[in-house]
Formats: sequence, C-alpha cells, structure tokens
Amino acid sequence: MLALSAEGTLPRVDYAIFADTGWEPKAVYDHLDRLEREIAQPAGIPILRVSSGNIRADALDPGHRFASMPLHILNKDGRAGMTRRQCTGEYKIKPIKKKVRELLGHPYPARIPKGVFVEQWVGISTDEFHRAKDADVKYMRNRHPLITDMNWSRSDCVRYLTSLGLADTPKSSCLGCPFHGNAQWRHIRDTSPEEWQDVVEFDAAIRQGNARANASGNHLLGEAFLHRSRVPLSDAPIDHVTAAEWAARQRELGDGQEPDAVEAELGVADGCSPWACRGDAEALPVQGDFGLAS
Ligand code: SF4
Repeated sequence: MLALSAEGTLPRVDYAIFADTGWEPKAVYDHLDRLEREIAQPAGIPILRVSSGNIRADALDPGHRFASMPLHILNKDGRAGMTRRQCTGEYKIKPIKKKVRELLGHPYPARIPKGVFVEQWVGISTDEFHRAKDADVKYMRNRHPLITDMNWSRSDCVRYLTSLGLADTPKSSCLGCPFHGNAQWRHIRDTSPEEWQDVVEFDAAIRQGNARANASGNHLLGEAFLHRSRVPLSDAPIDHVTAAEWAARQRELGDGQEPDAVEAELGVADGCSPWACRGDAEALPVQGDFGLAS
C-alpha cells in the first residue's frame, strides 16, 4: 500500500506507522529501512516507528508488567492449552492509537471531538476479506484499499512487489511468536544461527511462565512453550513435514487443505497484524493466564 500510494496509484497517505515490538527479525528491520529509503522518503511520506517497549525483555523482567504472549501450555494433568494473547493489543494497537491521537492533536486522555478521525488503511487482500473489520474507536475509520480499490489477491500483491524488486519482503512478526509454523522456525534456524539461539534461549526462559508472575508468586501450574508441540524448541519436531503439510506448502494457503496442517507448517497466515491478527488459530480453549499478564 505504501508503494501504491507513493507511485500515485492510490491517494497519497500522510503517514505510515510501524508498530515495533522490539523483537522483529533483523530482515524485517532491514526491509523497513529499505522501504523508507527507496519508497517513502522520495515520496515525502514519513514512516513513524512507534513502540510500547521490547516484548522479549519485558517477558523476562521481573519488575515489568507483561502483556502475555499466546504461549502453548502443557498442564500438569497433560491437557494442552494456551495463554491469553494480550501482546498484540499492548505492543501494536496501543502505540498506534497513541500516535494517531497525537497526530489528530488530541493526545490521551483528551476527548476527541465528534467527527474528527483518521482514515486508516489496512492491507488485507481479497483472499482474506473476512478479516477486514471496522475500527473499534470513532477516531479511526478503516479502509482496505487492496480490496476496495485494487481488487488484489495475495498473489497480485506478490507480483507487484516482485516488479518493484521487493520479492523477498519478509513477514512481520516477533522472532519468537508462538504462532509460527514449522516453516518459519526452520527458516530462523537455517538462515540465522544467532536468531535461532535467541529464540531457543527465550523458549527455555519462559518455561515456568513470565518473570513478573513468578516474582510475585503467581506460578504457572504447568509448562509454557513457544512451539505448538509443547516440546522445548531446541528439540521440537520442526523438520517433521507431513504429506498434508507438503501439499499445503505447494499451494501456499491451501485450497481444501486441513487448516491445522496448513498452520502447523506455515504458521498463522500473515504473522501478526495489529488489525487482523489470525491469532485465534489454534482451536484450544484459552485458559486462565496464571498471572502471566501481571
Ligand atoms: S507477533 Fe506474536 S508474539 Fe508478537 S505481538 Fe503478535 S501475537 Fe504477540
């Protein structure tokens, strides 16, 4: 959308906002720098980087309130569960809303006068139109130009990016997001040993829950894992690709494939989008947060 706006196919946006959780892969930060340098700056579109902190550091800091990640839990009785996902709201939506209020000239907690709003573009393509939603506040009105103006599918977007020399556009999400599929875990392990080390260490460090919860005596009654197999990441079966998963890879987001198989391999479709997170992917009851959010 940034490139379409910069070249004039879509109207010129006033700003682009990137919500930084502090724990994106290096490839994403490099890509963002490149977009800024080659596309945004020449078109005069400022990219505003906003943040609520560093999600990785916060999870391991006993003195910091932590908005919980959607961890895979193995309960003492062997039942599987997940912790509530609060991180998208805390690390993405909150800082974006804060910046939008500033841009409107009514920073929190000022009241925003009726009729004052921004138009916010959300990059959902036609194959995922069901994810297109209205904003939950009156001072933002969502528009989905890839659907309403371009009628573009995911492959149309990839073709366009390729024509711009951006075929290698990486998916944005936290390096250690528990929604990753095996393909994403393997990609980290096989292309970036330092980042793999980083996620393996983090996975081990959150086994008993987050640091603040433990420091306040609110212990997790089970074990937490980044990988959906609920096995330590260093030993998790990330090379295991079932026949269904191979088929899913061939077809990208899977016509007729079992959704579970697709997600096991590819992870949640678009990583974590602030306004369209596919984070409710795993069909397990979300259980109490065991104080993980404290
Ligand atoms: S990418 Fe994953 S861990 Fe990061 S904010 Fe989104 S859901 Fe949370």
